[in-house]
Amino acid sequence: MKKVLVLEDEASIRGFIVINLRRAGYDVIEAESGEEALDRLKENPDVKVALLDIMLPGIDGFEVCRRIRATNTKIGIIMLTARSQEMDKVTGLMTGADDYVTKPFSPAELTARVDALFRRAGGEEPVQTGEIHQPPFLLNTRNRTLEKNGQRIKLTQVEYSIMKVFMENPGKALAREEILSMVWGQDYFGELKIVDVNIRRLRLKIEDNVQNPIYITTVWGFGYKWGL
Ligand code: CA
Repeated sequence: MKKVLVLEDEASIRGFIVINLRRAGYDVIEAESGEEALDRLKENPDVKVALLDIMLPGIDGFEVCRRIRATNTKIGIIMLTARSQEMDKVTGLMTGADDYVTKPFSPAELTARVDALFRRAGGEEPVQTGEIHQPPFLLNTRNRTLEKNGQRIKLTQVEYSIMKVFMENPGKALAREEILSMVWGQDYFGELKIVDVNIRRLRLKIEDNVQNPIYITTVWGFGYKWGL
């Protein structure tokens, strides 16, 4: 079953999201508050994607995202952000979200985003076996895990996918558009900024010195490169 959690306190917006996701074939679990969402996720560990509103009574969506990520790196998380709050997007991604959708959104946009994330988080990708070893990193493509100097680094599914793209293309300058389409899919119509924010977050996890990255380097005006 394609299980999705929707956290939104405004009943009309929640209803709109739920109807459209059900129409697209999802089994939708609803929550009105952050606390309720965390309870629902405990009862339903097979939820693959969570949509989190930010402004909520009680704990906010960022805090919910943080608490989910503290124990679950596999679930896909989409933040529902308000048009005017540009900073929300970056903050949401930095707390561990994979994507964001700006209100108001169309049903087509919403389901496209959920579909894209579900494909990755839902494990519908063909199973791969093997390892990519580039000291000090070891990427295990079967377990989808990353080690640096033998120490496991916890990655979200998106971070893992970005690492895999880099490690499969050492020394090659990759355009941000290229990374977006390889990681998020050809049919994804999000913003390029999502690439930058995810890479910023990834650098915090893998670089020795974030101020002076040596593994994921910036190719100015173009994109990124794995290695110097
Ligand atoms: Ca709200």
